[in-house]
Amino acid sequence: MRGDVASAREVVVGLDIGGTKVHGVLLVDGAVVAEDRFAVRHGADGVVATATLAVDALAGRLAALVPGAEVGAVGVGVPGLVLPGAGTVAHAVNLGIVEPEPLGARLAGALGVPVTVENDLNVAALGAAHVLGLEGDLAFLALGTGVAAGLLLDGRLRRGHRGAAGEVGHVPYAADGPRCACGQVGCLELYASGSAIDAAWPSPDGVPAPAHLFRAAAAGDVDAVRVRDRFADAVATAVQTLTLTVDVEHVVLGGGVSEVGEPLLVAVRRALGRREAASSFLATLGLADRVRLAPPGARVAPVGAALAALVGRDAGRGPGHAAGPLPARPTTATVA
Ligand SMILES: [Zn+2]
Repeated sequence: MRGDVASAREVVVGLDIGGTKVHGVLLVDGAVVAEDRFAVRHGADGVVATATLAVDALAGRLAALVPGAEVGAVGVGVPGLVLPGAGTVAHAVNLGIVEPEPLGARLAGALGVPVTVENDLNVAALGAAHVLGLEGDLAFLALGTGVAAGLLLDGRLRRGHRGAAGEVGHVPYAADGPRCACGQVGCLELYASGSAIDAAWPSPDGVPAPAHLFRAAAAGDVDAVRVRDRFADAVATAVQTLTLTVDVEHVVLGGGVSEVGEPLLVAVRRALGRREAASSFLATLGLADRVRLAPPGARVAPVGAALAALVGRDAGRGPGHAAGPLPARPTTATVA
């Protein structure tokens, strides 16, 4: 399809490509008008084929919604390192992409519209700011298989010198802890991730382990209370680390564990409250009040991908309805 940039309606597709599925949204003038999920095929060819299929499917629904409109840009969030150049993705192990792959260029060639590729946590930070209507510096803290944050500072994504900004999951947390896959000992993500809950509180009945744990704790199970509070304390450390390094106004809890909802927020705020009670310094910072939940439905990442596409397409102009302009940084690669 050939996008019509002169179209009065701004139509953009956002894709959040995960290890098992693609979550795609169709945005018209900044509002989600359609969404769908697609199974992911692995490897570079599989990811290109999956993304093309997803864009075609969403574009196909556009005709009935906004006759005559065409998709003008596509944004893609991927769990991996996005390198300078043509939207090149590397180390996306969950997608079966290890060697650098020019995903953005290949997709742009297949789709005939500008394609912007960005790290999945970065697009989630953009999406969270937009969906929750938040201004000010923001960290999107994903509590999933691992723990890491996307950072939106002064309206711009902060990726860092080597793309490691926000990698709080590998901050040392327990000097006597087990070895982490990264090679260090006692990393924070061994305590603050969904994987940590799976290990400490295996679900007996198919209910996600975090939901099972928080329900058992609410029912007064003393072991569950202990595991929950230890988990919440580790998440509090991630929040405190982010706040004391870049002083973000908002820390949005996302990732699979955030589906627990309000009980997670309460537990993390309580853990931060204990720290504030013990430290007048922390109390003045109001850490607990900065934490909030990602909206349910995990839509923030594909919405953020769509917003990144607008910024990438209009590089330098800013998206208008996003949290603010992204810089023309080399890791947001837009190719036509
Ligand atoms: Zn580690």
